[in-house]
Amino acid sequence: MDLERKAIERVRLASKMSLNYYGLPLVCTYSGGKDSDVMLELFKRSGVPFEVHNSHTTADAPQTVRHIRDTFRELELQGISCTVDYHKKTDGNCVTMWNLIPKKLMPPSRRMRYCCSELKEGGCRDRMIATGVRWEESYKRKERGMFETISRDKSNKSILPDEKMLLTDNGDARRLFERCQLKAKTVVNPIIDWKDSDVWEFYWNECKRHNPLYQMGYYRVGCIGCPMAGKARGKEFADFPSYKRAYIKAFDRMLEVRKERGLTHQWKNGEEVFLWWMEDTDVQGQYIMEFSGADLQKIIEKGKT
Ligand code: SF4
Repeated sequence: MDLERKAIERVRLASKMSLNYYGLPLVCTYSGGKDSDVMLELFKRSGVPFEVHNSHTTADAPQTVRHIRDTFRELELQGISCTVDYHKKTDGNCVTMWNLIPKKLMPPSRRMRYCCSELKEGGCRDRMIATGVRWEESYKRKERGMFETISRDKSNKSILPDEKMLLTDNGDARRLFERCQLKAKTVVNPIIDWKDSDVWEFYWNECKRHNPLYQMGYYRVGCIGCPMAGKARGKEFADFPSYKRAYIKAFDRMLEVRKERGLTHQWKNGEEVFLWWMEDTDVQGQYIMEFSGADLQKIIEKGKT
């Protein structure tokens, strides 16, 4: 499979860069979904030294958590270092979806995916990491390249040039990368040009372990209730009602904090927030909540404190 060979070459190139510039092995990020398992298999086939990292979102289905745990156990028996980031704060408590919602004063949405930056993207500082991001997954991702650098200042995000340029020793691109090194997380996306069908084919034919959710009718595996999952959320909450209760409780706490901060809304309780969040237009209590730019900024500012 040409795509496989190409992806493995990218992993090998990124591994060399990681060892040269960071002095540490490349990290394969792992979420327990099909793209992650494909990546893991490519890493194994590449023969490079690597570590595996998972960000615990606290909203993953139990099947996903078990799949990650079983996969990590097997990798560790093979001598591969695996870490799970529980987002510990300086006071010893962990950031969870359930304490993040009251803190941010609004539910996560397609427009405000604060949970991703807090629960998924924060780890592996100053390391070179590989992700399973693909162009076909979303329009926004089309802007992303094979290599990216992400500095601690999020506004300073640059896309590194094409891998062919990086392979040219002493080239401008190589020098650009050298200037970025050690001050930023660098991301490589080895399967960025794979189509869904390529991933599914490789996943079912070449990967040994599979997340059981794919046999339960799920096409996408991620946080239960993720606003990016669209209509699939109805099935998720029908299959996992305890997560619905957890969201409603978090929304109840969010309303208390909003009240304390003097923010107005029409919701009476967490249940109503949940119905609004699910975009259920047939339900009493549903209404459209539109924020002006200034209102949104006010909520964001209050959510930071
Ligand atoms: S709910 Fe969706 S947007 Fe939020 S952390 Fe999970 S995957 Fe990211």
